[in-house]
Amino acid sequence: MTDLLPLVEHFHSLQGEGYHAGKSAFFIRLAGCNVGCSWCDTKHSWDEKKYPSISIEKIIEHIKIARKKGASFCVITGGEPLQHNLDKFCKSIKKETMGEKQKSIKIHLETSGVNTISGIYDWITLSPKKTFATKKLLFRTL
Ligand code: SF4
Repeated sequence: MTDLLPLVEHFHSLQGEGYHAGKSAFFIRLAGCNVGCSWCDTKHSWDEKKYPSISIEKIIEHIKIARKKGASFCVITGGEPLQHNLDKFCKSIKKETMGEKQKSIKIHLETSGVNTISGIYDWITLSPKKTFATKKLLFRTL
């Protein structure tokens, strides 16, 4: 588990694709990916050494602000976010955003599935790569 994560960017926007398209979302783009898809549109995120390591507390502060401004969920994306152990990050997001009616913000994950899963999610967007085996995804609850 880690207290620091390499962060490319974070931004509050509308989810642009998939089942949740059009919904207000806060995106957290983590650096690091060694999958190497030729069509990748986020190649700038591959080398995590190019980005600062940010404390999960700091990132969660941004999530809380976005939630107050209407974000329905946060999206952890990359890069390949599961190159990092996200157990502590996800647990901390759930704990720190616990609000009215004992509900915390929902966490979405965008992953290629090539790494073993860590963290807990309300929604996973899986984008398998034909050159890499997809690891068995184990769904865990709080
Ligand atoms: S897994 Fe995603 S971030 Fe990594 S190279 Fe492929 S498309 Fe890019």
